[in-house]
Parts: sequence; structure tokens; C-alpha cells
Amino acid sequence: MSSDWIAPAKRLSNLPPYVFARLDELKARAREQGLDLIDLGMGNPDGPAPQPVIDAAIAAFAEPRNHGYPPFEGTNTFRSAITQWYAKHYNVDLDPDSEALPLLGSKEGLTHLALAYVDPGEIVIVPSPAYPAHFRGPLIAGAELYRVTLKAEQNWLLDVKTIPEEVAQQAKLLYFNYPNNPTTATAPREFFEEIVEFARQYNILLVHDLCYAELAFDGYQPTSLLEIPGAKDIGVEFHTLSKTYNMAGWRVGFVVGNSQVIQQLRTLKTNVDYGIFAAVQKAAETALQLPYDHVKSVQERYQTRRDFLINALRELGWEIPKSQATMYLWMPCTLGMNSTDFALNMLQKTGVVVTPGNAFGEAGEGYVRVSLIADCDRLQEAVNRLKQAGIRYNPQEAIV
Ligand SMILES: *Cc1c(COP(=O)(O)O)cnc(C)c1O
Repeated sequence: MSSDWIAPAKRLSNLPPYVFARLDELKARAREQGLDLIDLGMGNPDGPAPQPVIDAAIAAFAEPRNHGYPPFEGTNTFRSAITQWYAKHYNVDLDPDSEALPLLGSKEGLTHLALAYVDPGEIVIVPSPAYPAHFRGPLIAGAELYRVTLKAEQNWLLDVKTIPEEVAQQAKLLYFNYPNNPTTATAPREFFEEIVEFARQYNILLVHDLCYAELAFDGYQPTSLLEIPGAKDIGVEFHTLSKTYNMAGWRVGFVVGNSQVIQQLRTLKTNVDYGIFAAVQKAAETALQLPYDHVKSVQERYQTRRDFLINALRELGWEIPKSQATMYLWMPCTLGMNSTDFALNMLQKTGVVVTPGNAFGEAGEGYVRVSLIADCDRLQEAVNRLKQAGIRYNPQEAIV
């Protein structure tokens, strides 16, 4: 098609290319060449949703009353399950009618929130690296991004003290996410206290993404933004069923927190979608009510893979610090290679797919993200292939 055909809106053409889409093309080509891919690229959990969740969904599917449009604001029972889950996990009281909203996956809500709150030219503070929806949503809304670079030597914590006064004065939203994708960093409670104080001082809407609330190890418990006194005045928190419950394809998540923000997001969404299939909401509700044993077994699975892969990569020269949460390793590239070249070289030589760090913004350069979405046998096979291909980390050369 000729390039002078009807042009898409600038909000679309201004977006940087979505690296996952490009990776998909290269994966398809590698598959055509007959390579057996080990795909550790996307954060797409392996395995099915828990059986009680599937059973609840099947029963709900069979109910004709679930087949019509669901209520805009989500079902009462799912919203109640959300607020009960919050009370149980964080001892935080929320009103299921005004402070909780089911979403078609958290990515949808994170993006629509920017459309509900940001006019073109307004400032949104985002970390770099970051989960793509945290900056792509604001970009679609026409935001001016102020990027705060996260650094290894600060444990990838967003340092609000580096934000210039005039930026803080004008900023409207701040997106952040701990336990962090892609860096795997976790944040102490004091960090949350500091960021709440900052947001209250400058009147900035805090948007926290707690999608790894339950993927934590070694006894670590991630902090909820809403545990911090005063956070509900200026903040909302996003969750997903995709990760802990292997429900990525079901498209269900939720947001909780400040009732005005929830109301505005709901207003926007009533103009865009009709909510989540009621049978899926029933399934999600069942997932949140599963006994803790389920969550524990998921945690053990990822913890085992984390430990296994860190040990196996040590033989190839990598010293990757153990993170207490998420489902990833954040792995420095072999020296002298940028993250795209490193990932593409690995894909072509070994069939192992990882995500180049620059997919998460320029500050992700120099790293790749490895998803722990294969069992240990397969992870061993991936490491064997790296070894055969001579791919290793070479810290000695850094000193020279
Ligand atoms: C996986 C992930 C999500 C989940 O998105 P859904 O749309 O709910 O599937 C959200 N935020 C981050 C940071 C993630 O890594």
C-alpha cells in the first residue's frame, strides 16, 4: 500500500515500535527455519489456570443470565471479593462500590487511566526502564513524559529527589511498579512513605502497579501503596489475575483506591467497553478466594526456577542477584553488545528468546529480561545451548 494513503493519527505514529511485535516476527522466521524455540521472552505464565477456577468458569458459562452484557462497574460479588482480598492481605478497608473497579486486564486500565486524566502536553512522570503500558498509555494521551532513570546502584528505586522542582509542580501523574518489571527490584516500605509524601506535597496522582503482589519469595511480602496512611487521597493501585493465577488470556484485573479516580476511569470506560464477561468475573472471584496453598505452590515453582537459572548462569560468568519477587531475571548483556543485538544473536544462534531491555525504555539498555516461564529441564537446555554457542558474560574484560 502506498505511503500516501490515509495516515493514522499522530498519537499512533509517534509511538516507538512495540518490541514484542518485532520479536514475534523474528520468532516466526526462526520457527520457519526449523529452530526449536525456548521462549522466555514475554511474561506469559506457562500452565493452565487452577482447576477450581476453570470449574467455576464452566459452571458460570452454563448460566444463561451470564450471557448478556455485564454491569459496567463489574459484578457485586467480584468487587466484594476484591475488597475482602485487600482486607485480608493488607488490612486495608475499601468500599466495594466506589473504591474498586474490575478491568479487562490491568494493561487496559493503566492505559485508559492516562486518557481519563491527561490532556496533551501535560507532564507524566515515568520511570525508565518501565512496563510499556506505563509510558505508552500516557504517550497515547499526548503526555509530555518526564523519565526518571532507575539505576542498579540504587537498587532500581525511583529517586523522587532527582525530579526538578518545576517538573514536580507541573506533573499530573506518576506511574511506578514494585516488585518491578523488568528489573525485579523490590521496594521497602520507607520508599512508599517517601513517594506518598512527595505526591501529597505536589498534588500528583500516584499510579502503582502491584501485579506481582503474590509472586514473592523467601518470606518477602510486597507492600501495597494503600497500606501507607494518606495514600488513598492521591493514589490508585492496579492488580492482575494474569500472573499468580495463570489467567493472562482471560483478561481480568482490577484497580482500587481513590474513589474520584475510580469514578473517572469508570466514566471513560463506559464509553469504550462493556466490561468483563460475567463468567470470567466469577472465575476471577474464585481465584482470589483460593486457599493460600495455591499461591504457595506458585511461589515455590518460580522460586525453584529462579534459583536453578541463577546457578546455571553462574557457570557462564553471570552473577545475577537473587530477587525476592517477580517471575524474571534481569540479566546484563555480554559486554560490548547492545540489548537488541544480544537478544537477536541469542535467538539466531540458540533459539532462546529473551526480551531486549530497551523494550522497557532507553534505560533498559545493556540488559535483557528472562521470563521464568519454563520448567528447570527446559531452562537447563537453554543454558546448554548458550554454552555451546559460546555466549557468556565476561566481567574480566570490563576491568581491562
Ligand atoms: C504482566 C504485567 C501486567 C499484567 O497485565 P494484564 O493486562 O493484567 O495481563 C501489568 N503490569 C505489569 C508491570 C506486568 O508485568
